[in-house]
Amino acid sequence: MATGTKDYYKTLGVTEKASQAEIKSAYRTLAKKYHPDAKPGPKAAGRFKGLGEAYAVLSDPKKRKQYDQIRRIPNLGFGRGRGASRGSGAGASGGFSFEDLEGFGGLGDIFSSIFDRRPKPGGGETQRGPAKGRSVEYLVEISFLTAAKGGKISIDVPITEECAKCGGSGASPGTRTKKCSECQGTGAISFGQGGFAVKRPCPACFGRGEIPESPCRPCSGSGTVRQNRRFKITVPKGVEAGSRVRLSGKGERGSRGGNPGDLIIMFKVKPHGFFRREGLDIHVTVPVNLVQATLGSKMAIKTVYGKRVHLRIPPGTQSGTKLRIRGHGIQKGERVGDQIVEVEVVIPETLTDEQRTAMEEFAASSGMKH
Ligand SMILES: [Zn+2]
Ligand SMILES: [Zn+2]
Repeated sequence: MATGTKDYYKTLGVTEKASQAEIKSAYRTLAKKYHPDAKPGPKAAGRFKGLGEAYAVLSDPKKRKQYDQIRRIPNLGFGRGRGASRGSGAGASGGFSFEDLEGFGGLGDIFSSIFDRRPKPGGGETQRGPAKGRSVEYLVEISFLTAAKGGKISIDVPITEECAKCGGSGASPGTRTKKCSECQGTGAISFGQGGFAVKRPCPACFGRGEIPESPCRPCSGSGTVRQNRRFKITVPKGVEAGSRVRLSGKGERGSRGGNPGDLIIMFKVKPHGFFRREGLDIHVTVPVNLVQATLGSKMAIKTVYGKRVHLRIPPGTQSGTKLRIRGHGIQKGERVGDQIVEVEVVIPETLTDEQRTAMEEFAASSGMKH
């Protein structure tokens, strides 16, 4: 669930204009009532947790202000049922939406199904003014080291947008359309599913309800065109998986002179064979042999930034010991993590006769049984 749809005022039972004192008092009263000591059970526990969350936001003037701003954005579920994190919601003004298409596409593909932006068949509710283009989210997989060091990368983003030639109607300009026979002009087809009829956009007319007599050439009658656009983007140093970069105005073209949407790049980080990341710390596992672990040793360890740092393995180091190399983790702004080296002692699998004799002598001299 998008956190944006939670109504913290409702949770605390106060109005939007409530003072800090009223919020505090409401929280105290409710928290006492639903405290797990007073009211055991998962339902009350959930309520208690919700109270804490609501209070954490509303009691902090800065967070409250941000929350109030989010709350004012239409389509976020305040007042209307629909959660909306798709696109920026801007271009979806036609009001034609299929509830069961929520989540259709997902990251990695180009998210915006061609269906959920179709104008309503017949154009009844279509806005005539300029409409901002939809924002496009795009998932980019980068290497572990690029994420650590940052850098410039070039990406090709497939962008599906309204056909400029026909303005999305799918018909050659100046030609007529006829009613779609597949869906009888409704734009949707029902499928039976476990007793429920689920409506899906009609594939024959792309959910439009009408079929062009002469399909528009550039878009073959679909009303949308899909093109790859190349962008050079800067990966910030120390970027984490899941973080986003917004390129303003690089999304889909707007309709009727509207501004283009944005392109939102989301990073996915490929795992690395040697380095693992936890927050700003880098973890590695380094094999050492029996002698190195027993007598101690010095070794050079690679860091994410390509340096080699010397690490002392103290005598008597056990397998699983973690040694910390300070300041050689991920650098992000002013902060820098450590590199943590886990030592893995490797026991020889086979011994020569000579080695076996030596080992037995060692066992005898140290009183070890075997
Ligand atoms: Zn077209
Ligand atoms: Zn149809």
